[in-house]
Amino acid sequence: MTNKFHTIRPVPNALLPQLYIETYGCQMNVNDSEVVVSVMQDAGYSLCQEMDKADVILVNTCSIRDNAEQRILGRLDLFRLQKKKKPALKVGVLGCMAGRLEKELLNHVAVDLVVGTDAYRQLPKLLEAVSQGNKQIETRFNPQENYADISPVRMDTNGVSAFVSITRGCNNACAYCVVPFVRGQERSRDPQSIEREVIELVANGYKEVCLLGQNVDSYLWADSHDPTKYLNFAQLLELVALIDPKLRVRFLTSHPKDMSSGVLYTMAMYPNICNHIHLPVQSGSNQILKKMNRKYTREEYLERIKTIREILPDCAVSGDFIAGFCDETPQDHANTLSLMNQVKFDQAFMFQYSERPGTKAAKMYQDNVPEEVKTQRLNEIIALQNQISLESNRRDIGKTFEVLIEGPSKRSPLEYFGRSPQNKVCVFPKENSKVGDYVQVTIHNCSSATLIGAITEDLPAAGLGSRIRSHISKLAHPIQP
Ligand code: SF4
Repeated sequence: MTNKFHTIRPVPNALLPQLYIETYGCQMNVNDSEVVVSVMQDAGYSLCQEMDKADVILVNTCSIRDNAEQRILGRLDLFRLQKKKKPALKVGVLGCMAGRLEKELLNHVAVDLVVGTDAYRQLPKLLEAVSQGNKQIETRFNPQENYADISPVRMDTNGVSAFVSITRGCNNACAYCVVPFVRGQERSRDPQSIEREVIELVANGYKEVCLLGQNVDSYLWADSHDPTKYLNFAQLLELVALIDPKLRVRFLTSHPKDMSSGVLYTMAMYPNICNHIHLPVQSGSNQILKKMNRKYTREEYLERIKTIREILPDCAVSGDFIAGFCDETPQDHANTLSLMNQVKFDQAFMFQYSERPGTKAAKMYQDNVPEEVKTQRLNEIIALQNQISLESNRRDIGKTFEVLIEGPSKRSPLEYFGRSPQNKVCVFPKENSKVGDYVQVTIHNCSSATLIGAITEDLPAAGLGSRIRSHISKLAHPIQP
């Protein structure tokens, strides 16, 4: 497939075979579905929004927790009924569940093909074979594959913010995690293809990119012809930030053991790199962190947070937590709550442990924390985090933030929503602004999840210059020891 950076929006055409796609799980799956639509569109399919119109249904699945998989099985039952109405309909299962439950899925009466995360280029050919009457399965890993030459077809609605994958797979072996088993070994994408994709997004009016990887901090690309030529994550961030100072740059997901101060200084250098870091911690107990194989201690995590706040004083930090991991004691749980009180995360994603077959934890440890205790601990973590997030948002009342408008607010048709550089959702009356504008919003109220404000001034493009200058002047006086 040649290098095709064009048509980054779906091209509806009722005359072509109709493709309907459902996406579940993380941002990586969202971006993968955009790659899938690009491959299918190039093969002569057209994306449709209604299942009834579909000739092919593809479901991009998540395996991170059991309830995610149960949901997919529910969808497959619905597709089985759909096939009764339309026997020629073809159904394919993609994503992490395809990699984990390949044979079981292929035996499902509704399923015609099962395709793993490294085989999306083969979809048209596999569908061709299915139309000859043979169910198809392709879930083998391809350590070279990162779809670098494929221009994802953006399926978002706002045309403002887009995901750009920079790595695929993961080399960490967190004991609870299924990702390495379903997405394979880590590989970094060549920086030129990332740069090209971002330039294309800017040319198509996008105002923000989010660089994606299971662990962006281990991004490392080396020129196969000249190993002295390589690029690490801090250098890639700089490369992307320099493309257009009006383009916001975000990234997901960082790893405490790999995050370098180089990344933090690069964030401090470029005001268009947003001051928000998502740094999953999972637990505040060293005993549990060791069992999870997270490869850092509570103390090392806190040291990383201290360095982030020294170099980037107004940087927001969000975390991930798992409640009720194997052998977690009340004291381990208390250590998690005390770490939350020490770090004061601005936001967090919180879950209870769900054993995943095939993982180290499932093989070696007992899932011995009763479900009701897991739920009780999760509720305590959520309650504490809501309180901390509310305090964090209350500290923003009276402040003015530059907000990139992403779309209409769910609260009121008279309001827009957007995010501050700290990744906080802000809602405010529309006035004369429009989606894609940068506006200055002064905060006058909040909830634990949302900042509520009003536009104080439209920020003309030139405004960014003054921010760059103020940033560089801040750098002239490095952190006082
Ligand atoms: S870093 Fe750990 S939790 Fe994250 S994807 Fe890799 S193995 Fe899973």
